[in-house]
Amino acid sequence: MTQENVSTGTWHSRTAQVAGWKITALCDGFLRLDGGAMWGVVPAAFWRTMTPPAEDNTILLALNCFLAERGEHKVLIEGGVGDRWNEKLRGIYHINNNPSITQALGTVGVAPEEITEVVLSHCHWDHCGALVVEQDGQLVPRFPGVPVYAPAIEIAVCQNPDPVRAASYRAEDLEALEQAGLLTGYQGTTEILPGIEVHELGGHSDGVSVILIGEGSERAIFWADVVPTTHHIQPPYIMAYDLDVARSYSVRSEWIGRAADEGWLGLFYHDPETSMARIERSGKRFVVAPAGI
Ligand SMILES: [Zn+2]
Repeated sequence: MTQENVSTGTWHSRTAQVAGWKITALCDGFLRLDGGAMWGVVPAAFWRTMTPPAEDNTILLALNCFLAERGEHKVLIEGGVGDRWNEKLRGIYHINNNPSITQALGTVGVAPEEITEVVLSHCHWDHCGALVVEQDGQLVPRFPGVPVYAPAIEIAVCQNPDPVRAASYRAEDLEALEQAGLLTGYQGTTEILPGIEVHELGGHSDGVSVILIGEGSERAIFWADVVPTTHHIQPPYIMAYDLDVARSYSVRSEWIGRAADEGWLGLFYHDPETSMARIERSGKRFVVAPAGI
């Protein structure tokens, strides 16, 4: 399945089977962020070949949400960027909401009302913005009645961010969900439902978590912004956005190594070309092997 999006990126949906779960790569459009911010201390001479910048130094990023289906569960992993953006911000971030999460679901034959749970890794605006839509001048949940699970600390920070964090959160993204009684906070390592487990790591943000799908040795890992694209798989390739770089290095070293050693399927939120890939060791470095069909 392919949907053309000529102005920014092209969505290539992928599917994979993991421990009885059918995992489908969805998309809530594309945006562009500053290449230097996405690559931190990595020299431009390195990253420019991997993620070529435009004239304004921004690089193309996707918003790849994922659908995990098993039994009666149709779980949406991550909440997109949404379309509640004024022209100024839309221009700065080059936000292109084509396809929207609803359109992407439609393309793979799933109606929004079929979603049973939503699980979020953290509450930055590009990870939860699509969960609320404006209707008759009011903000309402896009998936009415569907519970949304997010790290408790992320919910708290989103509702009242300090100046360091303010640019990354919008309280309005969660208010309508909370008022509807749909929002549940989690912390540490938590089983959201059988076969869906979250691990709170921190580093990138206060409570950023990875989401594991499956059981035993057969698992997929949603990397969130811990590893935003397949190009960021070397542990020192840490974004300038990360709050606690030392923590990021430590959790990235541990979890990237673990994913490689266990053969987990990686799900990459921001990669515009490779939404699913396994990480493998190659000497002291890591390499990717794209996966899914
Ligand atoms: Zn983030």
